[in-house]
This record gives sequence, structure tokens and C-alpha cells, in this order.
Amino acid sequence: MGNIQKFINLRRCMKNQWLPTSELEKLQFKMLKSILTHSYKNIPLYHQKFKSAGIYPDDIKSLEDIKKIPITTKQDIKDHYPNGTIARGVDTSKCWKPHTSGSTGKPLTMVYCTKDEDYQKAVALRPNLACGQKVRDKWAVITASYQAKPKKWFQKLRIFAPEYISLFEDVNQQIEFLEKFNPKILDGYATSIFLLAKELKDQDHLKIKPKIIFTTAEMLMENMRKTIESTFQQKIYDQFGCVELGRTAWECPEHSGYHMDMDSVLMEFISNGEEVSPGERGEIIYTGLYNYTMPLIRYSIGDVAIPSDEKCNCGRGLKLMESIEGRKDSFIQTPTGKIYSPIIWTIILRPFSQINQFKVTQEKIDHIVIEITKTKDFTNETLTAVKERIDQYLGQEDIHFQFEIVDEISRKGNKKLKSVESKINIKWN
Ligand SMILES: [Zn+2]
Repeated sequence: MGNIQKFINLRRCMKNQWLPTSELEKLQFKMLKSILTHSYKNIPLYHQKFKSAGIYPDDIKSLEDIKKIPITTKQDIKDHYPNGTIARGVDTSKCWKPHTSGSTGKPLTMVYCTKDEDYQKAVALRPNLACGQKVRDKWAVITASYQAKPKKWFQKLRIFAPEYISLFEDVNQQIEFLEKFNPKILDGYATSIFLLAKELKDQDHLKIKPKIIFTTAEMLMENMRKTIESTFQQKIYDQFGCVELGRTAWECPEHSGYHMDMDSVLMEFISNGEEVSPGERGEIIYTGLYNYTMPLIRYSIGDVAIPSDEKCNCGRGLKLMESIEGRKDSFIQTPTGKIYSPIIWTIILRPFSQINQFKVTQEKIDHIVIEITKTKDFTNETLTAVKERIDQYLGQEDIHFQFEIVDEISRKGNKKLKSVESKINIKWN
């Protein structure tokens, strides 16, 4: 695919965002019909799913009708990959094959032909442009090492060419590079930018002065947002997505939630098999609308979020999602059956400036391990105060809390850092 097509894709995406919501829904339905028909004909897994439900693509006469199609799980995709999930006749040797980090088990591989990949790049670039990034802005991206390319110190600046920094590099090395590079755009994994901001927080004369900060890939906790914004004196624009579908939702300069990329994905929010009302927590079910090589139809990814029916002041027609609550496995369920969003840990631990980073792991229903990396001000009194505060929020629960003061919160390989993780099976109803 040539550069002209890439430009056309980007121009189309930039235009689509301002269409009225009703027009975007029409476009969404058109794209949905097309990918369903294609999947039924060319993808064995979906042919089988349609058949088992006794339906044909023609039975889908509105966006709501999508509920007639069975859900696809990660396991379904892994079990049927590659022959059952990739369209017949595709030469996969020429395809782009990103894979998930495997933070929830065996990695899952996606396949995109160039045409689909080009469209994804345009969708991914849209929020950056919408938030003010310009063509030749110096752009630093902190990312997993398998995505990062070797650094070229005198790399000639090209159009939208990011400079990659590995998140596994020591924070002081990252700072050294960033001070020399002096990026206008700072972009990357939320926890990496947070750690960078923590390190630079007390410096009087900051040499790193980004004009725009994008966070992505990991849950941006409220304390992280505050630290990053106060260190760099800039607002963050958080972006949401996944390896399987690329960018799917993002914050615009109004910060009134996350605009969903309606011209590339259809997002449903489900609880107990039913669509939730705006303002209620639901599990995201994605249908990708442009990857014809390896389509994902009603794909359950395990992320939980809250849809919104508010209109954004920016005037974009792309519908809003109120907030991202986290991955399904970052919720904990206590012995009384109560389910707590990962946000509760930020609320509990936020007042403690002596805590650098934390990770909460629910090992068993009544056993939670809290790993902490401390600052030099951390004392035994801090730990006592932390325990008291946990007691205020979860004191009625019969849980054994185990504290571990560690030097570093380990990512265990190339995985995303999860601040909260539960190893138990939550009973949602
Ligand atoms: Zn907006």
C-alpha cells in the first residue's frame, strides 16, 4: 500500500471523528455487515459460530442484532489459530503479526495484511493529531523492548517517526536520553512515565519539557496521573486499546471520558449477558471492523469499563466511555462476596508519599499480598498507618494481608505491569 493510501486513510479518520453520532452508527453498521459477510464465508471459526446459533449474516439487520452472534473468547482464537481464524487465501508470510504480552497466559498472535495495518495506523494516529501533535514533532515512545528499535542518535527526523526507548532500561538512562533528545511528545506505558515523573519530581530545572503527554497500554491510576501532570506541568491524554484491535478509545483535550473509535471497532458493554445502562460497569465485547485477514467478532477481552451517554463539548460524534475500570482479573472478590474495583487500592494507598510503587496480588480469597517499593522516608510507622487505612476500607473482611517491601516490582518478562491482580475466579452474579 502506497503512501497516498495512508494519507487517504488518515484524512478519512480525521473527518469521521466530526460526523454526527447517527452518521457514525450508519457507517459502523455498514462496516459491520461487510465484515460479518466476509467472516461467514471465509473464516471457519465464525462460519461454525453462525451455524451453531442458527443464523446468517443477513439476519443482522441493526447494530443491536449483533447480540444474536455468540461471543468469541481468547481461548476460541488460540484453539483455532491459524487455519480457523485467518481468511482463506491469505499469504501470511507477507503479513504483520503482533502478539499479546501474554500477561494472562500464552500469547495470542494477530495477523494483518498491509491494507488492514495501514488503516490501524491511521486510527492510532488520530488521537495524537486531535490532541495537538504535529507532523515533525520530536516524539519519544517508552515501550516494551520487542517493539523498540535500536536507537540512532543522529536519526534524521521523518514524518511521524517516533524514537523508541525500552521500558526495561534503567530510569536514569531513560532520563539521560530524554534530556538530550528533548521530545515535544512524551508517549508510552503509563507506569514507565509515572516512574520517570517520580524520579524527576524534585528537580528544580527540568530539562525534559514535553508539550503533550500520552499514556497507554496500562491502567492509568489517579495517583499516577497526578504525579505525571504535576512533574511536567502538562495534562495527560490517556489512550486505550489492545494488541488484538489496536487503539480503540482515547481522551480528547476536553477530558470528558474516552472517545470510542466507532469507525474501527464496535464496543458493547455486557454484564450477565445483558447490555448495561450508561454509568454502569460492563465487560467490553469488541467487534473489529477493518481487519479482514483475522477478524474478531464479539471478542471478549476481559476489560471492564463504564459506557456513557454524555456528549463531549469538543463536538466530536465519536461516542464516549466514562472510565476504564481495569481488567477483569484486576478486580478482587472478598469472602463476603463483595467485588472491589482496582481503583480502591489507589484510594487506600494514595496518601502515602513514602510508597513509590505497589502491586496487590490476591492469591486466595482470604489472602492478599501487597508488594511495596519505598522511598527513603518510609518507616515502620508508615507500614502501621497503611495497615490501619486498609482496615478502614476492608476491616470487615476476613483477609490476611501479607506485606513485602521489595526493591523492584517485577514485570516478569515482557509483560504489562498490573498493579492489581487476582488469581481467584470471581463470581460476578
Ligand atoms: Zn471530546
